[in-house]
Amino acid sequence: HADRAKFESKRSGRNTLYFFNASMRNEADLYIELTSAIKAGLQKDEFEVYYQPIYDLRQGAYTRCEALMRWRRGGKDMVSPADFIPVAEQSGLIIELGAWLADEVFNCYQIMQAAGLPMRFSINRSAQEFSSLRHTQHFMNLQEKRDIPTHDITLEITESLLMSDNRTKSDNFQLLKEHGFLFSIDDFGTGYSAINYLRSYPAETLKIDRSFIWELGKSEQADVLVRVIIQLAQALGIAVVAEGVETPQQLELLRDMGCDYIQGFYLAKPMPQSEFKDFIRDAVAAS
Ligand code: C2E
Ligand code: MG
Ligand code: MG
Ligand code: MG
Repeated sequence: HADRAKFESKRSGRNTLYFFNASMRNEADLYIELTSAIKAGLQKDEFEVYYQPIYDLRQGAYTRCEALMRWRRGGKDMVSPADFIPVAEQSGLIIELGAWLADEVFNCYQIMQAAGLPMRFSINRSAQEFSSLRHTQHFMNLQEKRDIPTHDITLEITESLLMSDNRTKSDNFQLLKEHGFLFSIDDFGTGYSAINYLRSYPAETLKIDRSFIWELGKSEQADVLVRVIIQLAQALGIAVVAEGVETPQQLELLRDMGCDYIQGFYLAKPMPQSEFKDFIRDAVAAS
């Protein structure tokens, strides 16, 4: 059969046969195809960084933003990071992509400073980027070369990364922390949320996952959970960002709950660098 591959493997001393059916084969093909397309895309400059403003409820101003990767594959259709980041992670290409993004972000940081629009930037970092001190060193070299203050850069990591009990990862984490970078726990509430990790890896901010925010005002349980997460975080000295805020009702509820920062389509979508600069400039002018 053409689309049926047979694999043999030695497992616990005996031969085990694995059959890949057509749909699994397609998945493998897709993976290979995507991997080489990402490689080519890097060479052809198809990747872009979008920036989503983050609003500080207390200051009443946009003081932060999150950098989000975009891929205009073949120069036309935009591929969602949800589709290519996992492949980039699995193939190791996330290392190159992450380094490229970091330098773009540091450049944007300088552009905003020069325009008199100071901002703190958040960068998503994958577990793979914590797998070798070399990657971290390279990241820090990029930051040092451009003389970016580390306390203006937040690294967003997920709970699963915090929970993996791995020496190299914690060494990388420690190095970045000692260097002055800030950390944020992304998608909070979707992992195992072991409260202990909030203590052992003190993050500066925590981002409540948008699945909780969507339920606000609709489910009493969601309201209670969000309120308690905010109180717990703040009691530990951690500021809270609500992700995926799409309505004024959600924003007002979060304000009442004492939430620190708001991020979501209701205020602003992720946008290209030049548009982002205009957006922030207009917001400053209007305030
Ligand atoms: P994330 O870090 O949790 O990023 C927030 C995601 O929520 C972004 O999706 C953003 O566009 C989306 N979002 C923001 N506000 C709203 C809203 O009001 N409603 C809805 N429905 N969505 C909203 P995006 O850009 O598609 O990124 C998806 C994920 O891909 C990110 O989730 C992050 O985990 C990953 N990612 C993106 N860029 C990078 C990167 O440069 N490096 C790494 N390692 N991962 C990245
Ligand atoms: Mg994030
Ligand atoms: Mg998130
Ligand atoms: Mg997410």
